[in-house]
Amino acid sequence: MMGFWWRPLGVLAGVLLVALMLWAGSGWVAALGFLAGIQAFVMLRRLWQEYRLARWLESPDEVEPPEATGTWGDIFYRLQKLQRRQHASRSELSNALEQFEHAAQAVPDAMVILNGSEQIEWCNPASRKYMGLDCERDRGQFIRYLMRQAYFLDFLDAGDYSRRLVCKSPVNRELTLSLQLVPFGESQKLLLARDITDLERVDAMRRDFIANVSHELRTPLTVVGGFVETLADAPDLPAAESRHYFNLMLDHTRRMQHLLDDLLTLSRLESDDHAFKDEPVNVPEMAQALKAEAESLSRGRHRISLRLDSDAWLKGSLQEIRSALGNLVSNAVRYTPEGGEITLAWQVRGGEGAFSVTDTGEGIAAEHIPRLTERFYRVDRSRSRETGGTGLGLAIVKHVLTRHGARLDIRSTPGKGSTFSAVFPAQRLEAAAVAPDAATPLPERSRAAG
Ligand code: ADP
Repeated sequence: MMGFWWRPLGVLAGVLLVALMLWAGSGWVAALGFLAGIQAFVMLRRLWQEYRLARWLESPDEVEPPEATGTWGDIFYRLQKLQRRQHASRSELSNALEQFEHAAQAVPDAMVILNGSEQIEWCNPASRKYMGLDCERDRGQFIRYLMRQAYFLDFLDAGDYSRRLVCKSPVNRELTLSLQLVPFGESQKLLLARDITDLERVDAMRRDFIANVSHELRTPLTVVGGFVETLADAPDLPAAESRHYFNLMLDHTRRMQHLLDDLLTLSRLESDDHAFKDEPVNVPEMAQALKAEAESLSRGRHRISLRLDSDAWLKGSLQEIRSALGNLVSNAVRYTPEGGEITLAWQVRGGEGAFSVTDTGEGIAAEHIPRLTERFYRVDRSRSRETGGTGLGLAIVKHVLTRHGARLDIRSTPGKGSTFSAVFPAQRLEAAAVAPDAATPLPERSRAAG
């Protein structure tokens, strides 16, 4: 800032020197005239520069910034620097705001900013989807007038910022929301709404699953417990009677064993660390083994045939595919009355490999078909139990097929029979190997056929 003074002081000293010289040479009138002239010039110049400055300050973005030399040049330069700095920070601020706005618009959760009187100051597009709010239309509106549900008003009144309100969306009853209020600034609040429909569904499934497993285990456990008590209370029961009880206990124990086996299989299929094996699977050989398994389960009560229209192999997990197809075969035997026909077939159609099991059994009404692969879903609970079913077989099949990019096609006519097909995509098919040596393991488990 010291530099500011040198130039005007230098000019002043020069002017005074010239005035003194004039005084000495031409007398005081000339010196005073000179000083008056300089004064008038300085005043006029200052007036002009002040005018330019005022004009520029009035509309700095439209009018060119004034330029000058000397002290005024310095002042103009500093002002321009200030203006540039202000411009830069203003554009930085508006960039940051723009980015915030973009981010808030992209956030999948609904965000509503409320002022101290609970009027909407701003909201993002997700608030329309979840709460029916429109940022343009509803800005300045009281949130209480727009969302009048009693539970929501109670939530606002409670002002408990640690609490979350779980409720149905007022605009879409199929969505479950979790609402939260977050205070900020002087008296503002941020209302957040998150879609927790999937979480709720998973939670409900978990609860149902536990209830189902408990229910499935309770019956055989009660039966076995009852027989054990009977046998303990009457140790002298005739041998035939006690053998009957032991056989029943064995049946129920096997039932529990099957249930636990299926539960473990499902849990292994679901766990991420369960490595997926991609090995060659000799389907024609497996089909022969499955036919033998069907015959053993049927014990001569059904006519069983196998149609091998292709010698193609599959790529995938031998054990999983074996278990899935085994479940389809076991179901066909269990749900087909005596004298019925069961046909296993392996064919390649339209580039896809289809292993199908057709039976002339009881069939399934159309409304049940989409739900058959749900855990514990059964059309006829007692028929399933009588035949050793756990209600988990088709859930396992669906899991295995999904892991192989395959699908389960179910066609059925009540009273006539059903066809369950596991359809594998072309990329899972492999040409038959020249010397197949991968032995198909024996049946993993056999359910008792009814
Ligand atoms: P379950 O152990 O009860 O057989 P699954 O998951 O294997 O359980 O099958 C689910 C339900 O689908 C069965 O309870 C049965 O009602 C029906 N189902 C499965 N396969 C057949 C079939 N081949 N014929 C008729 N109904 C079947």
